[in-house]
Amino acid sequence: MIILKNPEEIEEMKKCGELSARVLRMAGEIIKPGISTFDIDEFIERIIRMNGATPSFKGLYGFPACACISVNEEVVHGIPSKTKILQEGDIVSIDTGATVDGWVGDNAWTFAVGEIAPRTKELLEVTEASMWAGIEQAVPGNHLGDIGHAVQKVAEDAGFGVLREYTGHGVGRVMHEDPNVFNYGKKGHGVKLQAGMVLAIEPMITQGSYKVKTMPDRWTVVTLDKKPAAHFERTIAITNDGPIVLTSEEWAK
Ligand code: MG
Repeated sequence: MIILKNPEEIEEMKKCGELSARVLRMAGEIIKPGISTFDIDEFIERIIRMNGATPSFKGLYGFPACACISVNEEVVHGIPSKTKILQEGDIVSIDTGATVDGWVGDNAWTFAVGEIAPRTKELLEVTEASMWAGIEQAVPGNHLGDIGHAVQKVAEDAGFGVLREYTGHGVGRVMHEDPNVFNYGKKGHGVKLQAGMVLAIEPMITQGSYKVKTMPDRWTVVTLDKKPAAHFERTIAITNDGPIVLTSEEWAK
């Protein structure tokens, strides 16, 4: 069941969205060779709690940390670890969110650690562009398939792969609500979009094949060909005036 949010509720969701975006940006700023993914997670937790908010990811389905931190061939759901040390040339995807007044924020970004390979830089640029192309389609009257199609086209036109097993989702008082937001699809297909839907649009794009597997830790999703993958995510609200990006620092007072 898709839970629509009224304009007041969408307004309220800007608070968790703003903090989620701020935390993600600040986490990106401390990234450097030598830092562990555990240190990044600890930093994220400190900022979220300092702001009187709750880390949305901690304990969700048993996840042990405040952020999923995935390096290089890890696509999503990486578990922060003291032994996972970032190195020059890595890429690192951070997926995190904060709960404020009972509303959940969810956003992700892939950062470069120092200088990265040109094709991997392109992967990051294209994945971000595919996310914005998807968001652009999030208007009343369009269909879920329009979002997926837009994401897929940008990614595949650049020669990259689109993950099939994982999707975006509705967001509200819990992290994962209906509907699933696929990163591939056909124009005009799927659920009709309407004002009040709040969606996490989150392309997961691979440099090589889109085939993935889950590691024995039962969380970390990696590409089978061990090529890098990127993940960009924004939580947006569909309104009659177009999509509003809720996970944005624009809402800071
Ligand atoms: Mg999400």
